[in-house]
Amino acid sequence: MIRNGFSRVLQSFCMVAVVLFFSGACFAAPKEVKPTMTPDKPSAESRGATKPGASEPRGRVQKEEPVIRVGLSDGQASAVVTADGEYVIRDAATGQGIDKIAAKSITTVSVKNRKLVVNGKAISAQKIRFSIADSRSARYLSVAGSKYRGDIVLVLAEDQTITVVNEVKLDDYIGGVISEEMSPEWPLEALKAQAVAARTFAAYSLGIHDADGYDVCASTHCQVYGGIESESPAGLRAVSATRGEIMAYQGKPIYAAFHSSSGGMTAGSEEAGGNALPYLKPVRDPQDAANTNSHWQVTLSAKELSAKLSAAGFRIGNIKAVELTPLDIGKGASDRYPSGRIKQVRFIGSLQTVNVPGPKLRWVVGLPSTLADVRRGTGKKAAPNTKGKIEFSDPNAEVVFDGYGRGHGIGMSQWGAKALAAKKTYREILNHYYKDVEFSWLF
Ligand SMILES: [Zn+2]
Repeated sequence: MIRNGFSRVLQSFCMVAVVLFFSGACFAAPKEVKPTMTPDKPSAESRGATKPGASEPRGRVQKEEPVIRVGLSDGQASAVVTADGEYVIRDAATGQGIDKIAAKSITTVSVKNRKLVVNGKAISAQKIRFSIADSRSARYLSVAGSKYRGDIVLVLAEDQTITVVNEVKLDDYIGGVISEEMSPEWPLEALKAQAVAARTFAAYSLGIHDADGYDVCASTHCQVYGGIESESPAGLRAVSATRGEIMAYQGKPIYAAFHSSSGGMTAGSEEAGGNALPYLKPVRDPQDAANTNSHWQVTLSAKELSAKLSAAGFRIGNIKAVELTPLDIGKGASDRYPSGRIKQVRFIGSLQTVNVPGPKLRWVVGLPSTLADVRRGTGKKAAPNTKGKIEFSDPNAEVVFDGYGRGHGIGMSQWGAKALAAKKTYREILNHYYKDVEFSWLF
């Protein structure tokens, strides 16, 4: 499931990640993450190390591994918890013991009269913590049938439902994320680059869900996390080989965006409509050609396109012409970003003329990327985009979007990383996609 679904999951993750970034989310460290998130800088020689993890690089200060609060679900009427060993339930606010439960026994928690009810008994605590009694004899807690490392915390929410949170060490969390984002069958250096990017992204996103009572959610909105069942031996190897390592710019975790395939050139961070970040600039990415699915076409009739535009608020009537500078990858224009991605397309319709921004067009039409050109159909009436303007007289004519790459194009291309991994270390791979960043450690 993981292997087949990872690219789809990734694409949705990246879409959302960009939204998070450009919506100016709050990045204050959440209250419950006790250890500091200030990274340590590696020494000059360890920065170029090819085998981090083999020995501790000089200059690294050992810190306690932070705990991240992952929201597993909100709005639950009840929760069923168990473990493979003896476990304890405590009041999460006071630490006071509530119960000790035998291995594999089930605890059911529900809500009645504004109180949490544990195995039929109402308690005064509003927030309870499940922990393994002895980590030497047990490995996991299970909630809703899925297994997790760390603690499970159940919170009585204001709407009288239960919020389920997994409080887990940061790298255990990354272990449950990485194989959802990249196939464990890919080369180890690519997986290591992915581990550092995912860890950096988590550090950057901390606190995004503070109002919900946790740091990050477990869905595509943040990063997909499936606990122990999402782990793979190769993914865990990549996480431990890069333990605690992140990318920083001016001492802070960077916005480590990544995507499936760049189509030959990555995008600057401003190309999805936000601010230009100094470490996210377009870079040539010829190795992305390793992705044989990089080239794509999306075909629809002029009538269908006009209906989609209309549904998105662009009421143009019948499409009469489309204006867009022909695609030349790596070459900007007034209506294209420096990578060649669409900045805007001009649709001349029977009712009005509108300029549609590239990222908006991508969602309206459902294009894999905005590194694309447009032309009129196939057959006798076919018209390639040679002059930057294509005319349509027939509402049934085919409009063909023809493009390269998958995803927003910002930051690391996973297919590019896969190809680079044949000759490069994970830090060299990351340095290719993120400019002037420092490698440092959170712990
Ligand atoms: Zn989220």
